[in-house]
Amino acid sequence: MASIILKSKREKSLLRRHPWIFSGAIHKLEGNPKPGETVEILSDKRLWIARGAFSPLSQIRARIWTFDEQEEIGPAFFHERIVRAIKNRQALPGENLPDSYRVIFGESDGVPGLVVDKYGEFLVCQFLFTGVEYWKDVIVEQLNALIPNRGIYDRSDTDARKKEGLPLKKGVIFGEEPPDLLTIHEGDIRFLVDLKNGQKTGFYLDQRDNRTITAEYVKEKEVLNCFSYTGGFGITALKYGARHVVNIDSSETALGIALQNCEINGLDSSKMENICGDAFEVLRKFRDEGRSFDCVILDPPKLAESRAQIERAARAYKDINLLGFKILRTGGILISFSCSGNLDESLFQKIVADAALDANREAVIIRRLHQAPDHPVSLNFPEAAYLKGVICKVVK
Ligand code: SAH
Repeated sequence: MASIILKSKREKSLLRRHPWIFSGAIHKLEGNPKPGETVEILSDKRLWIARGAFSPLSQIRARIWTFDEQEEIGPAFFHERIVRAIKNRQALPGENLPDSYRVIFGESDGVPGLVVDKYGEFLVCQFLFTGVEYWKDVIVEQLNALIPNRGIYDRSDTDARKKEGLPLKKGVIFGEEPPDLLTIHEGDIRFLVDLKNGQKTGFYLDQRDNRTITAEYVKEKEVLNCFSYTGGFGITALKYGARHVVNIDSSETALGIALQNCEINGLDSSKMENICGDAFEVLRKFRDEGRSFDCVILDPPKLAESRAQIERAARAYKDINLLGFKILRTGGILISFSCSGNLDESLFQKIVADAALDANREAVIIRRLHQAPDHPVSLNFPEAAYLKGVICKVVK
């Protein structure tokens, strides 16, 4: 088997079981592994440290499968990892698992680069690393053996694959093709999900708990739901008694589904207004018109794709939060998120604080929010913690 020999002292992060090896930590590669093939990781003194998969084009040159020298990489390995992930989900709080949730969350579940989401009777996968691409058939076979399903769909059509030198792919990999819109359940709400063409794998499952929490703050309120996608927060708000909801999104298709979501839940669509446009511009317009709300939700897309973009992203987050504070009535609630993993929670709080200051509002954080527990964070891989949010009450 091929080996990666690390530079002196570069095994430190691996000894803390962080699962990535950057190209700069490597002294030399022995052998001629194909992309995704298994390699042994040795220290400069040739001590065995870990076993991982090789990715020749990525800055993350290898990701670790195991720190146990006895553990071979093959069908039994993937079987064990998937069983473990399923068991961890079954231990989630609450009586019943929802019908749709993330079954496997990459590094946090010991399968770097693999995302598997369950939507009703369908599974949707993303293979985001050469290692899982190499073992794709085995992984699909094991998923099939362990999770009863009608079909498995590949949504490896995300730019993350480019860093690995992998082509973008999508399509059925097993069983039936999913319907154009599949109905899923979140608590007592139904959502239509487009698994084949929707964003991510079709739905923002990571916001499930936060949508539920939001329900507590919306009764009789006028709610502005910015970056609404298919209406997740807005539909939840209407269901839980909001007087009126405005959804803003740049995707016409997403807003079309939001309207259908309103209908299939038997909600009054005259209480919902959908605006297709740039949320930054629409908010500015609302501010200029003096339009105000009791609750403003801000869930923008990932604005910092890399560390280099943090400063620019911070300005955009501040801009949108400032506008949010400006159009809130006194006593109102701001529910504000960032899903940029590169921007940490304390910086995010500081941005929101700066925004309130510049908007000349006084506000307190009454609750902190994170990704749902089916998106766990391995203690050895803090990078998995990407979604954070605050609920702020405007006191003045
Ligand atoms: N809150 C949603 C998920 C939001 S994802 C939920 O719970 O399902 C971010 C959304 O922002 C996407 O739907 C995307 O289409 C939209 N978006 C991206 N840039 C935008 C912009 N400048 N203005 C408005 N919407 C935008």
